[in-house]
Amino acid sequence: MGIEARELADRLRSAVADPQVLSAIAAVPRERFVPDSERERAYENIALPISCGQTISQPLVVARMLELLALDARDRVLDIGTGSGYHAALLARLAGHVWTIERHAALSEQARTVLASLGVENVSFVVGDGYIGLPERAPFDAINVAAAPGEEIPRALEQQLADGGRLVVPIGGANQHLIRITRRGDRLERKRLEPVRFVPLVREPED
Ligand code: SAH
Repeated sequence: MGIEARELADRLRSAVADPQVLSAIAAVPRERFVPDSERERAYENIALPISCGQTISQPLVVARMLELLALDARDRVLDIGTGSGYHAALLARLAGHVWTIERHAALSEQARTVLASLGVENVSFVVGDGYIGLPERAPFDAINVAAAPGEEIPRALEQQLADGGRLVVPIGGANQHLIRITRRGDRLERKRLEPVRFVPLVREPED
């Protein structure tokens, strides 16, 4: 074990400059986050189906999002769309603590089991609506959104950024782009980045 994850990291090297991100990719066994039927393809640079009709994101996109978040070892991170837990496991290697939110309890539970089996202890699992963030744990140094909210950046997430905090989110409908938002006091700097394709961030019915 481990060689294939290292090979995946090597293949991402041309597109991802941050050595710490590449080390994290090399250290996390992606095969543990995919269904048995997909295990042979676990180290290919492609998104794969997981349960509940969702997907584990493409490794290149995950690595780029990690790089864009420019994490520090003490950072408090909010991760939206736990899915398999792969992205959360990588965030956990690069930051201080990760709160990861998922609307499907079954996915959250599976991810919790996998991370526990890998000895990851700095991730808290929340079942709920990531659209509203996690105000009771805010502010966050970094917010990672692994599902597409549509054309609008969720206001609640911007509000939960610490000063200097970074938010990376796919924005758009049929054509999505990554956007990085950095808070500088009351100001929010926005930068539009590469095209991506994520499953939708589902709005929970409001009552
Ligand atoms: N980061 C994941 C992949 C994310 S796929 C991984 O590493 O495997 C997007 C995930 O977002 C799906 O699991 C989906 O169920 C979840 N999701 C969609 N809308 C959501 C919402 N409003 N709140 C929380 N999770 C949501």
